[in-house]
Amino acid sequence: MTTDRTVTAPIDPAGTATIVADIAIVGGGLAGSLAASVLARAGHRVALVDKRAVHPDEFRVEKIGGQQLGMFRKLGFLHALENVACRYDQVLNIREGKVVDVSVGQAYGLPYADLVAMARSQLPDPSSLIVDEVTAVKCNDDIQHVELASGRRLDARLVVLATGMAGVLGYKLGIRRRVLAERHSVSFGFTIARRDGARFDFEALTCYGERTADGIDYLSLFPVPAGMRANLFMFRDPTDPIMRELRREAGATILRLLPGLRPYLGDFHVTDRVQNWVMDLTVVEGHLQPGVVLIGDAFQTNCPAAGTGVARLLMDVDRLCTEHAPRWLTTAGMGTEKIAQFYSDPDKVAADQRSLNMARFRQALTSRNDIGWDVRRRLHFLRRSLTHRVDQMHPGWLGRVRGALRA
Ligand SMILES: Cc1cc2nc3c(=O)[nH]c(=O)nc-3n(C[C@H](O)[C@H](O)[C@H](O)COP(=O)(O)OP(=O)(O)OC[C@H]3O[C@@H](n4cnc5c(N)ncnc54)[C@H](O)[C@@H]3O)c2cc1C
Repeated sequence: MTTDRTVTAPIDPAGTATIVADIAIVGGGLAGSLAASVLARAGHRVALVDKRAVHPDEFRVEKIGGQQLGMFRKLGFLHALENVACRYDQVLNIREGKVVDVSVGQAYGLPYADLVAMARSQLPDPSSLIVDEVTAVKCNDDIQHVELASGRRLDARLVVLATGMAGVLGYKLGIRRRVLAERHSVSFGFTIARRDGARFDFEALTCYGERTADGIDYLSLFPVPAGMRANLFMFRDPTDPIMRELRREAGATILRLLPGLRPYLGDFHVTDRVQNWVMDLTVVEGHLQPGVVLIGDAFQTNCPAAGTGVARLLMDVDRLCTEHAPRWLTTAGMGTEKIAQFYSDPDKVAADQRSLNMARFRQALTSRNDIGWDVRRRLHFLRRSLTHRVDQMHPGWLGRVRGALRA
């Protein structure tokens, strides 16, 4: 349902200078593209603005699994995801060359650009995507004005800022980023293949760091359409010389840092450019303003090792686009009393907090070397390993018990 405040003219009648929509989404990364598709499929008039027609080959999340899949299914994207990604069902988890356990469950690997393209492909009307750069956003209790670099203007009742880590537009609105942990983690992404062209002996593999001084949380290997992708997550000074070694000689350096990995990989080489990211943990302040709402990384950044970025942005998209924004549009005005409902949504708040807690936990588990964390680390892996062994023994043990009972 829409009110008389809802704009009813076509989005861009005959290429005029002012485009009108119910909701303007600035930034067509994963968060913005999913949000635009969900809202447009529900019948809202959406304009999604991104400065690039195709998302560049940038290293971001490259695997989707676990609870994230439930949310992709709920929002109606799972089928499209399955069509573009490589499915895998088992991850062999190792540490110091020994098996810790095996994770079983559906998961998908794909480049981030393909994930974003998938989300954009679900827009019912492709012309809802406007390729342009937003230079300014002016917000109030009623109609919001978005200025584009091309000179065009976009008017909407609500602006969703999904501009990722780029903070310029928010800054112009007086929104600041509070740094919770500077240079919190370092991530590397590259693709590997065996020199003999054979397949690796595992579907997917996670190798955990061996020494706290190395600051390696884990190396994750999983299939993507181009081959076997490697994501290395570290908590270490980004100016350490090891970073340059990883960029120049990723293959040899990971074997030196994770010697237990060698028998699992055989003779392999890196087949593409090594990409890396240094991540600050940040959250915005001064964001409660009329007419504008921030989602995804634009609201809070995440630790890649914790793997919570997508869970957080999916929660933002779900709560904003299936609950709050549709209700806000049914009555006049877009004041802060409406916007505050999203920021205080209990599920959103919990997802944001979980992401920060997990970021701190992964860092401590990886690199704290005091006695308390040393014991905790040992227990963490021992518990996983024992649970795995019990799970493996269970069917045989049950069979023997059943056999004895039958006899
Ligand atoms: C190296 C790395 C690895 C990661 N691994 C994982 C993982 O394994 N699991 C996990 O859950 N999360 C992971 N994450 C986090 C996850 O990738 C992010 O949370 C997610 O991609 C954020 O999406 P977003 O849409 O908020 O931002 P982005 O994808 O950055 O999108 C922002 C968009 O806004 C556009 N934009 C910006 N300014 C303007 C403007 N003025 N005008 C028009 N357009 C504009 C940009 O072009 C871009 O398309 C990782 C992150 C990194 C960096």
